[in-house]
Amino acid sequence: MKPTLAYAAIDAKTPLAPYSFERRDPKPHDVAIDILYCGVCHSDIHQARDEWGGSTFPMVPGHEIVGRVSALGSSVKKFKKGDLVGVGCFIDSCRSCSSCKEGLEQYCEIGMNATYNGLEKDGKTPTQGGYSDHIVVDENYILSIPSSLDPKGAAPLLCAGITTYSPLKHWGVSRGHKVGVVGLGGLGHMAVKIAKAMGAEVTVLSTSRKKEEDARRLGATHFIATNEDKALENAAGRFDFLVDAVSAPHDYNAYLNTLKRDGTMILLGVPDQPTPVHAFSLIMKRRKLGGSLIGGIKETQEMLDFCAKHNIVSDIEVIPVQKINEAYERMIKGDVRYRFVIDMASLSAR
Ligand code: NAP
Ligand code: ZN
Ligand code: ZN
Repeated sequence: MKPTLAYAAIDAKTPLAPYSFERRDPKPHDVAIDILYCGVCHSDIHQARDEWGGSTFPMVPGHEIVGRVSALGSSVKKFKKGDLVGVGCFIDSCRSCSSCKEGLEQYCEIGMNATYNGLEKDGKTPTQGGYSDHIVVDENYILSIPSSLDPKGAAPLLCAGITTYSPLKHWGVSRGHKVGVVGLGGLGHMAVKIAKAMGAEVTVLSTSRKKEEDARRLGATHFIATNEDKALENAAGRFDFLVDAVSAPHDYNAYLNTLKRDGTMILLGVPDQPTPVHAFSLIMKRRKLGGSLIGGIKETQEMLDFCAKHNIVSDIEVIPVQKINEAYERMIKGDVRYRFVIDMASLSAR
């Protein structure tokens, strides 16, 4: 066992604070990783504050992990010491159900082993995430970070990147499609970059004009400020796809109305409260409402290679871990451009 420095939520009401625990020594197929950077996802906030229910504490959040391989189990074939690697939202799965066999481990029928707020394969050890100095993960659940990508900017690709890439690929977004991205946060800004790289014409739908200039710089052709009078009514019937990356409750019906006939709205954001959907919002134009959860390991590697090819990383603000509670408050206010990334060297400076 190896002592691990971290930041943890001790319960749902207390700010994150320094915490230490022990991680296992690498088993034959394990890779030990010294964590360099960890992105801060809104799901970290939802879970650390138990907004979805069922959270377990103490909780070390963090599932956008980039680091260097520091030690290897005796049977590891895929990685060597010093490799730059990533860990995303899960660290294992059953490996035998139909979803796992299809490379869709995120939809494992038994339930994937989440990187934190879950259990290790032994079924009893709580998993602890990337706001920590190292992690030990099975080689089959680790990604290679392409050398051309900046490691700091690549960290958010492990969740925000794959969560937006996977549905865009699944629904076949390509040249000529009009894609609306709702909510320009961590996920939203990745959706803009990736949809644009896939050839789509992108419109950002944001709650004010504050992010308009950024939206255009990130690749959007059009911008809609949804707080303006009749903004959504005026966009009726416009989009082939909507990617909804909003973290708070909002009226899906108003957005559904901006889809064309046969258009699809893809929910990625997970607000803590449900929203009623009116049947008319769907049936009048044969619209579809779908959802998507992160992505499998194979597709995550494909996404990283796609990002390397298109020179895509996240727009980030690097913070020391001591600023994590402030970062959470700023994210809740929509004040992040566009992902906080923790420099894990700051952990030992406490
Ligand atoms: P984030 O960086 O905090 O961005 C959320 C954005 O939502 C904000 O920037 C804001 O955009 C918009 N927003 C916030 N409150 C709003 C409101 N009341 N009405 C309309 N828009 C509002 O969060 P994130 O890390 O991108 O995560 C977004 C959501 O996706 C979270 O719920 C997270 O848990 C979920 N998520 C899901 C998956 C998945 O697999 N499906 C994976 C990761 C995260 P504007 O400033 O542009 O209005
Ligand atoms: Zn996430
Ligand atoms: Zn499975």
